[in-house]
Amino acid sequence: MPALLTAREMLARLVAFPTVSTESNLDLIGFVEDYLAIHGVPSIRVPDESGRKASLVALVGPRVEGGVVLSGHTDVVPVEGQDWSGDPFALREADGRLIGRGTCDMKGFCALALAAVPEMLRAGLKRPVVLALSYDEEIGCLGAPAMIETMLDALPRPGAVIVGEPTLMQVVSGHKAGVRLDTGVRGYEVHSSVMHTGVSAVMAAARLIAWLDARNAENRTRAEASGAGAGLDPPWTTLHVGRIAGGTANNITARDCRFVTEMRVMPDEEPDVWEERYRAEAERLAAGLRRVRPEAAIAIERINFVPPCVPERDGAAEKLVRELTGDREARMVSYGTEAGQFQEAGLSAVVCGPGSIAQAHQPDEYLTEAQFAEGEAFMRRLVRRLAA
Ligand SMILES: [Zn+2]
Repeated sequence: MPALLTAREMLARLVAFPTVSTESNLDLIGFVEDYLAIHGVPSIRVPDESGRKASLVALVGPRVEGGVVLSGHTDVVPVEGQDWSGDPFALREADGRLIGRGTCDMKGFCALALAAVPEMLRAGLKRPVVLALSYDEEIGCLGAPAMIETMLDALPRPGAVIVGEPTLMQVVSGHKAGVRLDTGVRGYEVHSSVMHTGVSAVMAAARLIAWLDARNAENRTRAEASGAGAGLDPPWTTLHVGRIAGGTANNITARDCRFVTEMRVMPDEEPDVWEERYRAEAERLAAGLRRVRPEAAIAIERINFVPPCVPERDGAAEKLVRELTGDREARMVSYGTEAGQFQEAGLSAVVCGPGSIAQAHQPDEYLTEAQFAEGEAFMRRLVRRLAA
């Protein structure tokens, strides 16, 4: 491997690893380890329980506190069922766009950080850069907690975290929390001609989902009346069901129905409170079902939680990135990132990276060359700042 790779060459290398969240990312991690080793930068591998995936943490520069974490995830979303005009895992250029899976979300940022390592080493940093590359971000930010723990154990405490998710290189200081709840409704099977003697799990699930949707309408009305939460789209908590399965026949009351609820909760609201409200509604409904058949039940399990990124008062990360970008506007986003997990560990965090979230997860996903160049300039300014 050559010791020097341009940012674009680095991006091409990273895109070529098909690190879809269901697959191993170890080839990519091994490549990054080798690249850093050529430059004399040791890295720490943080494997998952299966041993098929790993995060990587590396300190570039002096072993002192107050460094800046550049955080990116190595996994990408699948390409199946999408209409790509070429190989998603071979970087292409067309019309000022760098096209490939992960270019925007978010190997572009990872490539910029890695390609800047030789410059970081030459610059004589007074405060270090910490590279933090995770896995399984796309399936619920699963890799970050262990990575953050290892980072805090092994390295001097950093002063700021930049999570490079696509924000068009604008400063995003907050985002919603994410809660995923698996709901299993147990009904009672009878012939549908005598449905009053059974319990349809499908119809009970429909009532719960209708309750969720009524909250969406309520939240929207309240937000539109108050004007609160500006900068978020939408500026209210949303409760969504994306998958549902249940029933065995047209003429049998369904014994089972299962669905997953995804709550995207405003940064100033409590995810736990939303979960409790939902559980209370499910319990109220279940009590009614049990009057028909004592076998009826509703079980709810929290299967994922991504903490909110809460805008910090005088946050070090936000201050740094505002200085480097010149961006003064207050912004929040509705999607989750690892920023809230860094905040939970007591670190100052902000989201800022190249590309638009509108291109993330799309067929022919792309990062414009202009955004990539802006990201490159940002890295140079960061290195100068840390060397001063
Ligand atoms: Zn992402």
